[in-house]
Amino acid sequence: MAERIFNFNAGPAALPLPVLEEIQQEMLDFKGTGMSILEISHRSKPFESVLDETIARIKSLLELDDRYQVLFLQGGASLQFCMIPMNLALPGKPAAYIDTGTWAGNAIKEARTQGKDVEVSASSKDRDYTYIPRDFMVPPDAAYLHITSNNTIRGTQWREFPETGGVPLISDMSSDIFSRTFDPRPFGLMYAGAQKNAGPAGVTLVIIREDMLARVPQDLPTMLKYTTFADNKSMFNTPPCFAIYVVNLVTKWLEKTIGGIARMEEINRQKAHLIYDYLDGQDFYSGTAEPDSRSHMNVTFRLPTPALLEVFLKEATAGGLVGLKGHRSVGGCRASLYNAVSIEAVRTLVGFMKEFATKKG
Ligand code: PMP
Repeated sequence: MAERIFNFNAGPAALPLPVLEEIQQEMLDFKGTGMSILEISHRSKPFESVLDETIARIKSLLELDDRYQVLFLQGGASLQFCMIPMNLALPGKPAAYIDTGTWAGNAIKEARTQGKDVEVSASSKDRDYTYIPRDFMVPPDAAYLHITSNNTIRGTQWREFPETGGVPLISDMSSDIFSRTFDPRPFGLMYAGAQKNAGPAGVTLVIIREDMLARVPQDLPTMLKYTTFADNKSMFNTPPCFAIYVVNLVTKWLEKTIGGIARMEEINRQKAHLIYDYLDGQDFYSGTAEPDSRSHMNVTFRLPTPALLEVFLKEATAGGLVGLKGHRSVGGCRASLYNAVSIEAVRTLVGFMKEFATKKG
């Protein structure tokens, strides 16, 4: 077998090894068809089973009740930034957003392009997006409140979801879906580009509640209406079959090998603590997120100088630790600890960081 390295990429990101092996095993002959999953019709029985299984697994893992539908779209999480206001804004009511960084900002910008009455109820821009705002008022008549549950670039995460007084919550969960348990019931819609915690790039998960579907204006373009996907089980046109198949394998791994999301959350907490506890006890590296807002998925930190950062990244790569460079907009380092990243990978990273600090500090 080819040697695998420790992958801390932010997305596309690490996939569980058993998933990759299963893909490999099934590649030439998917379920006795004599063809690969890449070569069969999306209307065929084997693919329909994949689709049904994936939906059932996601509903069970997230404990979604019958009011929710799981949809598979294309266009990335970025397309959702405009589909949400197009489909779910209500005339005469504000669409409320919390601004916690780049992706939230993109969602706000796109809502404005739709000419909607956008209200930014809170922002953490005042402290360079290093925290999650806590004290804010959600307009009681808001059509929805949009948040980004995990801020991939800034390394902050809503540890608890905001109380909205009945206003439907909408969350971009691209970088923390399936990483922890939560009560889905306040959510009108959750969405995630799959390429971090759910599978490969190419499919976007949209989980939508029936009262949100009832809002969808009839006159939107067909491919931009949630109802088109809901009414046709995401098969109005050809869905991203291979990406959905991999999401099925990833959620199966989560269910059967890990033992569900509560267990995954526990492992994710251990991984995050390993690195945050180390960061807190030294002064060579500095974490960028405020402690009560830190993400369990993306750990962001800086080195004393840009020159040391370059050496750190170079030596990390040479030591088999890849994907640690921070987002180009903020620099520094970022270790993404998604579900498929093992505790062993995080221990190895912390060991490397200690050694590097001793050598250069
Ligand atoms: N939202 C978040 C939280 C993200 O991290 C990203 C991508 N890194 C996006 C949205 C954009 O996703 P996509 O590339 O699927 O459009």
